Amino acid sequence: MGKIIKVLKGTKDILPQDVTMWHFVEDCARKVFNSYGFNEIRTPIIEVTELFSRGVGDTTDIVNKEMYTFEKSDRSITLRPENTAGVVRSYIENGMSRLSSPVKLWYKGPMFRYERPQAGRQRQFHQVGVEMFGISQPSADAEVILTAVDFLKSVGLNDLEVEINSLGCPKCRAEFKEKLKNVIRPYLNDLCEDCQTRFDKNPLRLLDCKVEECQKIYAKPEIQTVIHSDFLCEECKNHYDELKKYLDNLKIKYSENKLLVRGLDYYTRTVFEIKSNNLGSQNAVCGGGRYDGLVEQLGGEHTPAVGFAMGMERLISLIPEIKNELLDGYIVSNSTAEAFLLAQELRNKGLNVELDLANKKFTKQLEKASKVAKYALILGEDEISQNKISVKNLKTGEQTTVNRAEILNYIN
Ligand code: ATP
Ligand code: MG
Repeated sequence: MGKIIKVLKGTKDILPQDVTMWHFVEDCARKVFNSYGFNEIRTPIIEVTELFSRGVGDTTDIVNKEMYTFEKSDRSITLRPENTAGVVRSYIENGMSRLSSPVKLWYKGPMFRYERPQAGRQRQFHQVGVEMFGISQPSADAEVILTAVDFLKSVGLNDLEVEINSLGCPKCRAEFKEKLKNVIRPYLNDLCEDCQTRFDKNPLRLLDCKVEECQKIYAKPEIQTVIHSDFLCEECKNHYDELKKYLDNLKIKYSENKLLVRGLDYYTRTVFEIKSNNLGSQNAVCGGGRYDGLVEQLGGEHTPAVGFAMGMERLISLIPEIKNELLDGYIVSNSTAEAFLLAQELRNKGLNVELDLANKKFTKQLEKASKVAKYALILGEDEISQNKISVKNLKTGEQTTVNRAEILNYIN
C-alpha cells in the first residue's frame, strides 16, 4: 500500500454532511442579494499578480506575506486572496461603466492566503460579497450595510455587532497621518517590526496591530487624543453623518470604532466590520467599506464604489447545525430490475429516490430505508403484478398500499 496523502495544511474538505449548510447559506445569499438588485459575477481564481499588488496595495499583509504566487510562461500569476480586485478588473475590462448606475454585483467562492492556520483562519477559505459601483452618496454605503445585515438575518444571525468608522479622503487623511506619526515617533524603537515598517508605508495600519506592546503604546493619552480627534474635512464629515442618519432610520444598531482601519489600502471614507462575540479572536465575519479610488487606480475612469466581503467558514460556524435532508423514498424489492424502473419513474416526477444495488435481503433493505428515507417503497411480487406499491411511512410506521400512479399524491 502506498503512503496516505493528506489534505494541505490550512485547507479543508467540505464533506457531504456539511454541504447542506453551504447550500443553505449560498441560497440565502442568492435570494437576499438578488432582492436588492445585485447580479452574480464569477471571476477567475487566478489573475496576474500585478492586479493585487496595485489593487490590494503593496503595503498590506495580504500582498507582502500572504499571496500564493507562481510563474507560468514568464508571467507572474496569483491565486486570488480576495475578490474585489478581480471584480473591479472585470468591471473595467467589460466596459460596465457604460451601464446605468449603480452597477451592483455579488460573488462567492474560494480565496487563498498563506497565513498561519488557526481557528477561523484557513489558507483556502470562502467569501461571499457584494460590490456597488457608481454612487458616491452615503445612501449606497447604507444600502450595502443593510444588505449585509439582512443576509446575516436570513441565515438566522440577528445579534451581530456592526462597527463603523470613516477614514476620510486622501486629503484630510494625509494631515491625520502626519499628526499620528508625530505623536508615535518617540516610541518608534519600541514598536514591533511590522509597525516599524507600517510607520512610513501606511501609518493608519499601526492602529490595527495585534501585538500587545504596540497596543499599550497606542493607548497612551497623547496618542489617543490624536486618534479620537475629528480630522474629517467638511465633506467627509457630512458623508459620515448622513450615513449614520440612514442607519438610525433603518434601525440598524451600530457602534463607532475609531480604531477600525481595515487591512486594505484602498478604502476611503466609510469602513465597517460585523463581529460576533462567539468567534474568539478571529471575530470578524464581514469587512467592507468605500473604495472610491480603486477603479481609477486599476486603469478605469474615476468611479465611486462600496462593498463588503464575508468569511463563509466563520459565518457557518455561527449557525446551529441543520440536518441533512432524507430521501423521499427508498425502494425495497427483490427485483433490482423492477426497482430500477420504479426509481426512474419517480425521479422523473421530481422525487429523490434510491434503491438497493447489492441484492440485500428484504429485512436489510428495510433497515437501510429507515436510516436514509422518509418512506420505504415496497415492491414485492404482489405489488408488481397488481401495479401497486406498499408505502411505509418510516416516521409513524403506518403502511398502506396505493396505486402506482398515485404514489406522488400520497407522498406529497
Ligand atoms: P482578519 O482581520 O480576520 O485577518 P481581514 O481584514 O484579513 O480579516 P478581509 O480581507 O476583510 O479580512 O476579509 C473579509 C472576511 O473574510 C473576514 O472578515 C473573515 O471573515 C474572512 N477571512 C479573511 N481571512 C480569512 C482566513 N484566512 N480564513 C477564513 N476566513 C477569512
Ligand atoms: Mg487578514
